[in-house]
Amino acid sequence: MAVRFDVITLFPELFAPFQTVGVTRRAFESRAVDVHLWPLRDHAEGVYRRVDDRPFGGGPGMVMLVEPLVRALQAIRADQQAAGGERLPVILFSPAGRPLTQSRVQALAQSAGAVLLCGRYEGVDQRFIDAYVDEEISLGDYVLSGGELPALTLMDAVARLQPGVLHDAASHEQDSFSDGLLDCPHYSRPEMLTLPEGQEMGVPSVLMSGHHAHIARWRREQQLAITARRRPELIEAARARGELSKQDEHFLSNLPL
Ligand code: SAH
Repeated sequence: MAVRFDVITLFPELFAPFQTVGVTRRAFESRAVDVHLWPLRDHAEGVYRRVDDRPFGGGPGMVMLVEPLVRALQAIRADQQAAGGERLPVILFSPAGRPLTQSRVQALAQSAGAVLLCGRYEGVDQRFIDAYVDEEISLGDYVLSGGELPALTLMDAVARLQPGVLHDAASHEQDSFSDGLLDCPHYSRPEMLTLPEGQEMGVPSVLMSGHHAHIARWRREQQLAITARRRPELIEAARARGELSKQDEHFLSNLPL
């Protein structure tokens, strides 16, 4: 079933190029991921088509007005209903949201979709959030100028999980986070690389051994080592879920810190 995204944005032109390139193109063109853009300006009123105003209480920056957002959402609801679809939850991108995770992406990829609200300026009038927003999602602890890149990020992550997007279906099962650990290193040709500076670089010999069990074990241990060093909290979480084998624990306990 298709995943539908209704995107409310002041900058719809940012979205088109991402839908025509790379492995995710098929997901967008086949409408497996069905993107509907809702330019907020279309729902603004007056000669100036205002979508923002100064904050009550003073302070810097502008606030996105509630009323154009309500009208945009009403138009989306009417369109969703006309298409016979269900009422999709409203997601607002915000640095104050919960960080986006691969498990949230997986859940969305299996859902009917969502309305994605891309903030601009200082953000959205809190009353719209209180009345209509179901979930706030952050990309991380830094501040962007708008929610368009977060919306594109989320849709890209969902699109690559659609059946038939990645040539090898097993490919995303190997990705970082799919098993709660970071990904292992990858190598390809040439087997012996000579850098312009003259340095020679080979490939871990186990990868050339043809021994599948050894290769799988090496990859697992690379994942464990990289994750333990860079993101120890992910090791703790995998352990708490009971996803570390005796062999994994033995390997971790012998890792130099
Ligand atoms: N005053 C806000 C920042 C507004 S940035 C604050 O301090 O929290 C303008 C818009 O960009 C936000 O409304 C949001 O939609 C988007 N945005 C910025 N940083 C983001 C992040 N880390 N994750 C998700 N969305 C972000």
